[in-house]
Amino acid sequence: MGRVYNFSAGPAVLPEEVLAEAAEEMMDYRGCGMSVMEMSHRSKMFQQIIDEAEADIRDLLAIPDNYKVLFLQGGASTQFAMVPMNLMKNRVADYIVTGQWAKKACKEAALFGTANVVASSEDETFSYIPDCSDLPIDKDADYVYICENNTIYGTRFHKLPDTKGKFLVADQSSCFLSEPVDVSKYGMIYGGVQKNVGPAGVVIAIIREDLITDDVLPGTPTMLRYKIHADAGSLYNTPPCYGIYICGKVFKWLRKMGGLEVMKQRNEEKAKILYDYLDGSKFFKGTVRKDSRSLMNVPFITGDAELDAEFISAADREGFKNIKGHRTVGGMRASIYNAMPKEGVEKLVKFMEEFEKEHER
Ligand SMILES: *Cc1c(COP(=O)(O)O)cnc(C)c1O
Repeated sequence: MGRVYNFSAGPAVLPEEVLAEAAEEMMDYRGCGMSVMEMSHRSKMFQQIIDEAEADIRDLLAIPDNYKVLFLQGGASTQFAMVPMNLMKNRVADYIVTGQWAKKACKEAALFGTANVVASSEDETFSYIPDCSDLPIDKDADYVYICENNTIYGTRFHKLPDTKGKFLVADQSSCFLSEPVDVSKYGMIYGGVQKNVGPAGVVIAIIREDLITDDVLPGTPTMLRYKIHADAGSLYNTPPCYGIYICGKVFKWLRKMGGLEVMKQRNEEKAKILYDYLDGSKFFKGTVRKDSRSLMNVPFITGDAELDAEFISAADREGFKNIKGHRTVGGMRASIYNAMPKEGVEKLVKFMEEFEKEHER
């Protein structure tokens, strides 16, 4: 069997060119007679890989000089604890809860201090982004936290919250590098890379330098301190070398594609194909309020769980893989990250049209 259209929410589709290049370099990376997997993280070769990866992501996101880029591990979920341990100096933080990931992050922060829920969309199964223009920000809050794109529910912030002077921390795991971002509007951005950038396990954190200090909560383990990793150029211990190498290749692919402005256009085009169809269909329905729609994750339903299941298996047989919604919400979800070609979305919609015709009631 050849390559399928993989609509998984993560780990997710990667650019074929990147996979092919990695395969070619597997046995002998650029004449050094070994794989990147087998290489010392203290070698010149690997130093060049991580340096180039950092330079390329800085270029893609136009990251200002006063921000550090850290390549960490432990998945996005480890950041749920690292963020409060390093940044919750007054032991108060404000969380905007727009889905399971934000909720988990908030719950983790509550282990270390007061985590206020200043806005939530749980009342309507997280199907929208609440109005964040005038939130009850705690005067003692160290930061305001958001999950910018809600992978499970298919919503995203179209406008950042008014944090009333507090710095913003954003989990961008599922929208990482999908469009340009004004990094200066954030104190910290982080993303687990398996949604849009690379192999699971690696997390990239972009943190304003003045927030990286030794003043962390008592008992914070060495490995969970941003300063340890920042001072060591992400090489305090053995980093996830192979994962970083693949991320670096994806950064080069993104640059070759024309950068994040071009990716944004492509992603908007792809999402429009799917949303336009859903808006016109009498059979399938999108589940998200229009003003909150994600460009990356598109959930939809037929309204009948049996038909949903039938659609999912029929799609699977046709090579549209992993279209099943998250186990907590059911229905379908098409994740259409950077590396999903437009043709994949077009073919999916064509298949949905046929299925709709066959099942017209
Ligand atoms: C997938 C995901 C996570 C969890 O990532 P892990 O690497 O599995 O810990 C956190 N936040 C968001 C927005 C995600 O999409």
